[in-house]
Amino acid sequence: MPRNYNALDIPPIVVGSEMRAKMGKFNSFERRKAEQQVKPDHCLLCGEPQTSFCNSHTLPAFCLESIAENGHVLSTADAIGTNIVESSIGLNRAGTFRLVCRKCDNEFFKEYESRSSYGRSPAQQILGKIAVKCCLSELAKSRRDSAMYGKNPLLQKVGNTLSCTYSELDV
Ligand SMILES: [Zn+2]
Repeated sequence: MPRNYNALDIPPIVVGSEMRAKMGKFNSFERRKAEQQVKPDHCLLCGEPQTSFCNSHTLPAFCLESIAENGHVLSTADAIGTNIVESSIGLNRAGTFRLVCRKCDNEFFKEYESRSSYGRSPAQQILGKIAVKCCLSELAKSRRDSAMYGKNPLLQKVGNTLSCTYSELDV
């Protein structure tokens, strides 16, 4: 059960176990399908053709390991106070994306992933690599979400409703 963070002004969204199971199954299926649809045919860093990609962490794994409990970290759902999605996520899925080859992930981000790099002021090179990781992660999410939500009639209807509602706000 998600924790209740009173500091957030978002009302908790809690659904019954049957609805939660349906939503979990739907999200899991649609996510996998969307990720397959937008899977690139080459590494986005080196450009080499690829059929599989490294499971890259946006945050260095050693950082996640230091805050994990039983191999899991809390998700945004925990902060929001909803049970629509899992309130914790396994380290192998936390903030990950698949757009670069294993060689690039190991070599290009070597300093970024090294605990010893963080004992001193971050070098411009590390800051640049953090920016690359964040951009790749956002790119992966955008590609997946576009495929996942862009063609689903039900989700388009929800999106259209939200767009209309938002535009009516005159903001
Ligand atoms: Zn590569």
